[in-house]
Amino acid sequence: MRGARAEREGTRFRLYAQLPLQVASQTPETVWIGRPPGSIGPGPSDERMYVVDAIGKDKHYEYPYLPPWRGPMHPPVVAGPDGHFDHLEPGTREFMAAHMYGTIRFVLDIWEDYLGEELSWHFSSRDRRRLELVPIVEWDNAHSGFGFIETGFAEIEGVDRQPFCLNFDVLAHEFGHSLLYALLGTPPPGKATATYHAFHESAADCVAMVAVMHFESVLDRLLERTGGNLYLPNELNRIGELSETKQIRLASNSMKLGDVPDFSTPVERLTQPERHAMSLPLTGAVFDMMVDVFQALLVQDGLISRELDKFSRPELHAADERRVQAAFDLCYARNREGFKQALRDARDYMGRCLAATWRRLSWDLRYEDVAAELLDVDSRRYQGAGRNIIISSMEWRDITFRFGRGQRMFRRRMD
Ligand SMILES: [Zn+2]
Repeated sequence: MRGARAEREGTRFRLYAQLPLQVASQTPETVWIGRPPGSIGPGPSDERMYVVDAIGKDKHYEYPYLPPWRGPMHPPVVAGPDGHFDHLEPGTREFMAAHMYGTIRFVLDIWEDYLGEELSWHFSSRDRRRLELVPIVEWDNAHSGFGFIETGFAEIEGVDRQPFCLNFDVLAHEFGHSLLYALLGTPPPGKATATYHAFHESAADCVAMVAVMHFESVLDRLLERTGGNLYLPNELNRIGELSETKQIRLASNSMKLGDVPDFSTPVERLTQPERHAMSLPLTGAVFDMMVDVFQALLVQDGLISRELDKFSRPELHAADERRVQAAFDLCYARNREGFKQALRDARDYMGRCLAATWRRLSWDLRYEDVAAELLDVDSRRYQGAGRNIIISSMEWRDITFRFGRGQRMFRRRMD
């Protein structure tokens, strides 16, 4: 259950939709998890995942060291008398445990809705069925692996260390890896390619970007700050700003394939930052697609002119930028709700297309396969509505389309 029904019948949690540096000054936002109050057990836990608030875990999981955690732990967090988890005080360990569960469950619900079915964990077996979530590890990183997601702390100069378990972006990104392990499968030992790693980082960022757009407050803030001109720097295209590698990755970026290391480089010769850099052209293409679909919907709904849509692209001269912004501000002020609905629709279009595309891919993919499958998904599900947008966004990044036997691409004249 999602949306309005979840609000009537679901369980309340409070989550931070913001980046962690702002946490101290922000209040968490109430969300509804699509399960009846009283159905989420101590931990919190359910039949898909459980939180273990481990005490003194100073070593992160790495094969053959795997869940379940067998050491000491704090008592599991329980729901309030009404069956909800929004009674916990921010700043407490209990709140951190509930925040981690609430976030991962919230993002899982969103993506299962896009997939149209329940996800089966890649590690699932008779004696390992549930995902273990460990909110506090003495470690400066966060990761997802065989049966777990665990989080440490971001060490930032001059600032108190920031727990990753309160960072929606990091948690959603790590969940994205778990989702992709399930959909793509995992390569046999020694077979993982540079493309596989780069694709994982890109898709995990896309999982987080689409998910954070399910907070009403994020949509409102985004539109209020940009007037709907989403190519401006904003919190959405800064996704991944504080990632597990402390690399700054921007969803809105101008990286092309030629700007990143060669994809045939043996994976062991690439550093983690290089793998992340290789994810940027694909993430950037997805971001551009979503913004282009949003603007196409605005044109279709009569909310902006065709000229403004064409003219408003990144890397304008400063004077043009000011003109574009003034035009957006004017149009947005006329119909705020219309802009918000178009943004929700663009988000859901992208989410559904990505979910269906990923489902068709396997671990030995190339970016050309992602492009071709995306085009095919759009044509089957949306009658090719996004075709020109997909082609131009991919080609701008120098990502070509690789088709299977019998498939070809016919060019429609672009308007
Ligand atoms: Zn990652």
